Amino acid sequence: MGWLDCADGAPTAACRPHYKFVILRSSRWLRGTISLVKILIVEDEPKTGDYLLQGLVEAGFVVDLVRDGSTGLHQALTEVYDLAILDVMLPGLDGWSVLRGIRTAGKDMPVLFLTARDHVDDRVKGLELGADDYLVKPFAFSELLARVRTLLRRGAKASAAEFLRAADLELDLLRRRVTRAGKRIDLTAKEFALLELLLRRQGEVLPRSLIASQVWDMNFDSDTNVIEVAMRRLRVKLDDSFEPKLIRTVRGMGYVLENPDCA
Ligand code: CA
Repeated sequence: MGWLDCADGAPTAACRPHYKFVILRSSRWLRGTISLVKILIVEDEPKTGDYLLQGLVEAGFVVDLVRDGSTGLHQALTEVYDLAILDVMLPGLDGWSVLRGIRTAGKDMPVLFLTARDHVDDRVKGLELGADDYLVKPFAFSELLARVRTLLRRGAKASAAEFLRAADLELDLLRRRVTRAGKRIDLTAKEFALLELLLRRQGEVLPRSLIASQVWDMNFDSDTNVIEVAMRRLRVKLDDSFEPKLIRTVRGMGYVLENPDCA
């Protein structure tokens, strides 16, 4: 939790699903069935950053904290978040540039701005650049939390997506069901999370380190074969009795789920 090595997983594939699916995690969280809502905080002030990190983690969110604008933008573009909290005054890129970069890349997750300056111009500029809300420092954590929940709820309403698909494979996010060619496939919770990640980022080679952090919430340890074992089981269930094979090992790099419809 907190600092994150973000060298992995640049978004390159043309055929990957985008944020309409991501928002859905919020809606499931709001229904109280899952707590996988992921928030990015970009804040250089150590005290404020730590305070936000701790508060949001205690509130049940998965949180990444970075302390400068360049890392923040990189993180926002290479990881999947349900919401970003951006400070305006940041070393490297300022908050405006980070926001502009996020929107230019077509990422539509809600963005909440933090600033010490209560200037109307700043507020207008932020909203014009595509921020969803604005909070002036100092603020009470309860107020921030209320804004975060409102933004997530709004995002959830904006999305009607319930399924992730590749070829004849279908993952039903709300009912937690998977079918291939109409046949029901029973998965464990980890296998489901693994498949969800592969489908969300289909066409992208996912390094083991990224899979470890996203599905197992752990740092990659080369001594463990937990990912290989889970992947093998998943492939037996998904691919053994079906064509075309969807999951592929890329030697020395990781795993990819390839959608033949997008080839
Ligand atoms: Ca700052």
